[in-house]
Amino acid sequence: MSFEVIKTQNIGFCFGVNRAVNALNEVLKNDDGSKKIYTFGQIVHNNIITDELEKKGVINTENIEDIEPGSIVFIRAHGIPRSVYEALVNKNVEIFDETCPKVKKIHNIVSNAENVIIAGNIKHPEVIGIIGNTKNKKFIVKDIDELKKIMHNISGIDSEIVFLAQTTFNASEFNEMAKYLEQFNNVRVVNTICSSTYERQKDVEDLAKRVDAFVIVGGKNSSNTQKLYEIASLYCKAFHIESPNELPNLVNYKKIGLSAGASTHSSTIEEVFNNMISENSENISLEEEEIDFAKAIEASMKIIRNGERVKGIITAVNGSEIQVDLGVKHSGFIPSDEFSNEENPPKVGDEVEAFVVRVNDVEGTAQLSKSKIDSIKGLEKIVAAKDSGDTLKCKVIEAVKGGIVVLVNKVRVFVPASLASLRRDTDLNTLVNKEFPIRIIEVDESGRRMRIIGSIRAVLKEELDSAQKQIWENIEIGKRYKGVVKSIVKFGVFVDIGGVDGLVHITDLTWGRIKSPEELVKVGDVIEVEVKAIDAEKRKISLVYKKSEDNPWEILKAKYKVDDVLDVTVLKIMPYGAFVSVVDNVDGLIHISQLSNHRVENVSEVLKVGDVVKAQIIEINYEEKRVSLSIRALLSEEEPLIVEATADADAVPSVEGLANEESADGVQIAE
Ligand code: SF4
Repeated sequence: MSFEVIKTQNIGFCFGVNRAVNALNEVLKNDDGSKKIYTFGQIVHNNIITDELEKKGVINTENIEDIEPGSIVFIRAHGIPRSVYEALVNKNVEIFDETCPKVKKIHNIVSNAENVIIAGNIKHPEVIGIIGNTKNKKFIVKDIDELKKIMHNISGIDSEIVFLAQTTFNASEFNEMAKYLEQFNNVRVVNTICSSTYERQKDVEDLAKRVDAFVIVGGKNSSNTQKLYEIASLYCKAFHIESPNELPNLVNYKKIGLSAGASTHSSTIEEVFNNMISENSENISLEEEEIDFAKAIEASMKIIRNGERVKGIITAVNGSEIQVDLGVKHSGFIPSDEFSNEENPPKVGDEVEAFVVRVNDVEGTAQLSKSKIDSIKGLEKIVAAKDSGDTLKCKVIEAVKGGIVVLVNKVRVFVPASLASLRRDTDLNTLVNKEFPIRIIEVDESGRRMRIIGSIRAVLKEELDSAQKQIWENIEIGKRYKGVVKSIVKFGVFVDIGGVDGLVHITDLTWGRIKSPEELVKVGDVIEVEVKAIDAEKRKISLVYKKSEDNPWEILKAKYKVDDVLDVTVLKIMPYGAFVSVVDNVDGLIHISQLSNHRVENVSEVLKVGDVVKAQIIEINYEEKRVSLSIRALLSEEEPLIVEATADADAVPSVEGLANEESADGVQIAE
């Protein structure tokens, strides 16, 4: 039966183990046998390697009494408690401290913390070493249930509690615990899970979902190997083997995953792999890409240097640092605050580009900067835009002497006051925090500091010219525009309809009566206007704001005709008659001679402001905008005038607005 063997990408010795094993091999290479060589505990959790080392004379012990003074002692990647280290120093031995730099970092954190909670296995040598480097209170939890219990028990502690994990702790469990701890203000979470561990676990999890069986190679006492086995078991049949001869019969599986713990030598993995394929040498299908040893080795050998631009994948996000896997032996770190202005906060799995600030070969770390790479990229775009004349976006960050400083692609650019806006009298402070288009007009790299100058005005002027051209090419009477009220004068308002200002005369603002345009609009209002007249030569545009459908004379026409009888409210008493409201904004006149069927000397004898009376329309003159009404037409010769109850004074329209051109024939309303 044919099957596929798929190997995970992150496999074999991790950086820390590799570093320790190499150091030991280096010493063995030059060993003249004059000194005994010890490892304080297995250099890696791998019996095969321990046996091989034993054959070369390396003694594995964890008992200080066994160690002879004057000998060589190797401290493995897991590290040791401070007291043990001091005992070794007192023993007068030559110490090779190969504690993984990532574990050393944990020792530093815990030695300065007042209270520490460590997520991990209390019996694991790394955790024993961490505990042995704490100075104050420490608590060890193996899972979230234990963590909850501990948090309950220590609820009285007000001082800071640092929560961190064994480097090989399960990443998703740690994240769950960190989430739970968000409710405690005095807990600082430091993600100390090694990216190498995280990547292995992620690789195994992803692959386990796609295969029928999984072979995990590594020491039975290796914590990280055990974790990989547990993860694989969640999704498929998994086998944990230490050596090729423990390989189970795999003939019943079609797709088989292969991975190994951080303490598994590449030769063991190769051997297991070869055994798997040789035992099933017929019709074996391999996913070449995933088993490319050369590629994997090449990646692990790749080096990075200060000042380089690198890309990596975020493997952990914690309070102060973002951990980045660069696909090299160094782990990358970016300070979290460099992401504080990002729209989307960084998350595990995101790709990130960064600038290498400092490579620390001893610690196996690389300090990275995202803001620096952003600036470099921003500058590149600026230089390119200067050459091409392209427009960029900018945000004004401050007004300074002689101009403003703007940020363009996170790079500071100076804009002289004369080039900061269309109007030279603009108060530069009003531009701060606003965004504009900008053209880069100068990039001077000759001085100690690069000088970049931009012009906002150049772009705004171009935009304005183009908008004006568009308007004049397309404008026509009756066309409607949305415009912004630019200024208000006594006789009307100027409205910007997209680069060109037009005037709405006060009489074109409303069908009603107003004393000042400010009763209707204010500067900055967006209003819809219609083109009334165009003088292309003088570049003048007249606009109308009032709407034809609101024309009160049209409303009157639709509602009433001559001879109609209606209730009208008296608005104003004049010597020659009374003005009444016919419809909104159309007043009519009841001439004194039309008030009664007998002679009236004084209009006030018959009517007063606010009275509601029945009257008949006797004439409508649309051209002259006059309406005449009669009460008399409704009365027989002897019948007296009946006036209904006076309307509520508050409901009576003000008569102050009546047009000045009142006459005995009616009222003229502004068109
Ligand atoms: S911390 Fe990471 S790199 Fe260091 S020994 Fe542990 S697994 Fe390896």
